[in-house]
Amino acid sequence: MKKIGVLTSGGDAPGMNAAVRAAVRKGISLGMDVYGIERGYAGLLDGDIKKMEWKSVGDILQRGGTILRTARSERFNTQEGEAHAAMMLDTFGIEGLVVIGGDGSFRGGLALAEKGIQVMGVPGTIDNDLGYTDYTIGFDTAVNTVLSLVSNIRDTASAHERTTIVEVMGRHCGDIALHAGLGGGADVILVPEVPLDINLVCRKVLRGQQSGKLHSIIIKAEGVEMSANELAKIVEERTGREARAVVPAHIQRGGTPSGRDRCLASLMATKAVQLLYNDESSKGIGICGSEIVAYDLAEALQIKRDFGQDIYDLAEVLS
Ligand code: ATP
Repeated sequence: MKKIGVLTSGGDAPGMNAAVRAAVRKGISLGMDVYGIERGYAGLLDGDIKKMEWKSVGDILQRGGTILRTARSERFNTQEGEAHAAMMLDTFGIEGLVVIGGDGSFRGGLALAEKGIQVMGVPGTIDNDLGYTDYTIGFDTAVNTVLSLVSNIRDTASAHERTTIVEVMGRHCGDIALHAGLGGGADVILVPEVPLDINLVCRKVLRGQQSGKLHSIIIKAEGVEMSANELAKIVEERTGREARAVVPAHIQRGGTPSGRDRCLASLMATKAVQLLYNDESSKGIGICGSEIVAYDLAEALQIKRDFGQDIYDLAEVLS
């Protein structure tokens, strides 16, 4: 394979740039022409495709966001859109594609794979919601961003003897809440994988108050059906202590990627390009333990996520 493309798609995640850099430089080092496709599948449809050089990806390793920019494209997600995208790749002579994104982006990649393009999926999403890989690129940075925020909240919440509900991202997956909850010493962790029991939440907060705690931290995943404001109202009513909601929203997506995300991105994207070079069929790249793995792309998307019950239980014991 001589010509490959790389794109970032769906929500941005810190570490995507490190993945783009690795894909471009690995490809060039193997003697391939590497094309950067802007704005994910939207840019592919529009032919926003440019040849990348070694220097094109200089000084981006430490930057959040993605220099290729990203998009969600409904136009692509149609039979005509997918056919047009395959035709654009054919026009540029691109035979293989590195797709850096989440499950939606992988499904788009699978549609292209069915049209004869070799597609390597590199999991770039803060949500950590892909079942076939232990971790996705951006997750570690997002957890660290939430942890830094929780430290600040602890200071002010203690001073005012307040309960704070921090709503974190993750869509239908509770992993950011789970890991930030354990690492941040949350009194309560609320995730979509465990049914919400409002009585239990209030009992835990009251137990903390009665034991002399000056503040309570509840970390709630956005996938939990009750909003942070609703929850704050109920908790305040039932515990008699002021409760505030904090929703950091897109702050969790930005910022310099952690060392772990940079390394993960570099290892995964390099593997993706090597597999294209070896002419392998479409794969989803992941990490299992400390090993970089590759599953058949369609199979990777079928693997269900395991909920980290052990982490949830431990956080409960330690809070
Ligand atoms: P994140 O996890 O950060 O949200 P994502 O990759 O899951 O990232 P999506 O918005 O779900 O984000 O998907 C990105 C794009 O991939 C969509 O805008 C669409 O163009 C394409 N896509 C999503 N699902 C499909 C599908 N089933 N078939 C073809 N293309 C799809």
